[in-house]
Amino acid sequence: MKADPAVQRRLLDLAEVDAELSRADHRRRTMPELAEITEAEKAVQTRRDAQVAIQTQLDDLDREVARQEKEIDAVRAREERDRGLMAGGTIGAKQLTDLEHELATLERRQGVLEDDLLELMERREAVEMDGKHAGVELAKAEEKLADAVRRRDENLTDIGTTEARRAADRAKVLAGMPEDLLAVYERRRKQKGIGAALLRARRCGACRIELDRREISRIKETPADEVLECEECGAILVRTAESGL
Ligand SMILES: [Zn+2]
Repeated sequence: MKADPAVQRRLLDLAEVDAELSRADHRRRTMPELAEITEAEKAVQTRRDAQVAIQTQLDDLDREVARQEKEIDAVRAREERDRGLMAGGTIGAKQLTDLEHELATLERRQGVLEDDLLELMERREAVEMDGKHAGVELAKAEEKLADAVRRRDENLTDIGTTEARRAADRAKVLAGMPEDLLAVYERRRKQKGIGAALLRARRCGACRIELDRREISRIKETPADEVLECEECGAILVRTAESGL
């Protein structure tokens, strides 16, 4: 294939633009913020689960406290009733003894219930502290996630700007480029990632392999408007004064 040497040199501009576009694409897919976000999302979920578990514990304890308080109230009511009867003076000696006995039992029972209630309240307080701690941890994890998301979005904006600029550059370089040359370039780029490269100091700019003497002398004899390809990597080899020919 033949192409004007000046047109061939424009392939180098195109390759440079394409390299920048692939770097932008690579950065979009591999920026560290992506892994950070995945990790941070996991951490937030774990903290949220912990908070839900603590809230469930608190709800259970609240129910237990309410039940305990209700029982204590019932015992107290019974005690008051007994005391009332005893103070009324209308009961016999046998019943009085029974009531005294019952009252003593009720007071013991009340003591036990009150101790249990105190213990429940202490447990509730401890769980509440856990809840506060979990809330702080969750807030920290959410902040970390938000920070990573913000940095990712900044990167995406940055990448988008680069891409828009390079796309405009690309359109300029492509204007008037021969179709057949471009087709070869695109094919090579798809296959190897690099479509065209400068032959610099006898080395292919795409695969960096130094061409041997036989190949160099063959290239020297090839007319300047003949399009060359690297024997090693297939990239279009563009010759300039830097080629070392
Ligand atoms: Zn090569």
